[in-house]
Amino acid sequence: MPSFSELGRAAYCPRQLYYARKHDEQEPPPETREIKQLAFRYTELKTASDETLSSLPITPEPTAYRAALRTLATRDDWEHLCDPAEQAYFVEGKDCHGVVDKLLAGDPPIPTLVSPGQPPETGVWEPQTVRAVAAAKAVAWEHEREIPRALVEYPAVGGVRTVPLTTRRIATYRRVLRTVQSMEGVPPRVNDSRCESCEYRTECGVRTNSLKSLLGL
Ligand code: SF4
Repeated sequence: MPSFSELGRAAYCPRQLYYARKHDEQEPPPETREIKQLAFRYTELKTASDETLSSLPITPEPTAYRAALRTLATRDDWEHLCDPAEQAYFVEGKDCHGVVDKLLAGDPPIPTLVSPGQPPETGVWEPQTVRAVAAAKAVAWEHEREIPRALVEYPAVGGVRTVPLTTRRIATYRRVLRTVQSMEGVPPRVNDSRCESCEYRTECGVRTNSLKSLLGL
């Protein structure tokens, strides 16, 4: 049974999941853990000094970061984001399992995943969408009820994005799940812009368009 993060990887590139499994990479690097911890300090950081904020791995200037958290505090679920019912909550569903960073109390409970990265202009990145849907499906299975949305938090910028479980998102999740369930051997390369920032590109041996054109191929 795949994990949420394996599904997220496969949504990015199934071949990348193949390499991640081969290297058995489980533990995130310390920098990632440090950023994710910020999602558990919103109340304190909302009024933190410039000096404190400048020492943290945040992207905006301190003034802008405090403003982002003040905006976050206007959300209906602010109290729950600051004081979740569960942290690092392991959940096993029918088709996948994993750890949700927070489970917010409520009717229904809402799973949230904390990203160490930057959000896109709107919504969330597709691999994160797949992870979020996977988490919501697993919580739904465990609680025997529908979970209509999940959240993705971006504490480096003080932002939270809601991921409603639309028909289209569920279909994407199911497609990726089928891909992972039927993976045999090494999946083909995607050979596009995704390869530029892939940590396995050397091992993969992919030649991106820019490299190809540099070599006149
Ligand atoms: S370099 Fe490209 S094809 Fe190879 S694993 Fe990474 S994203 Fe996939």
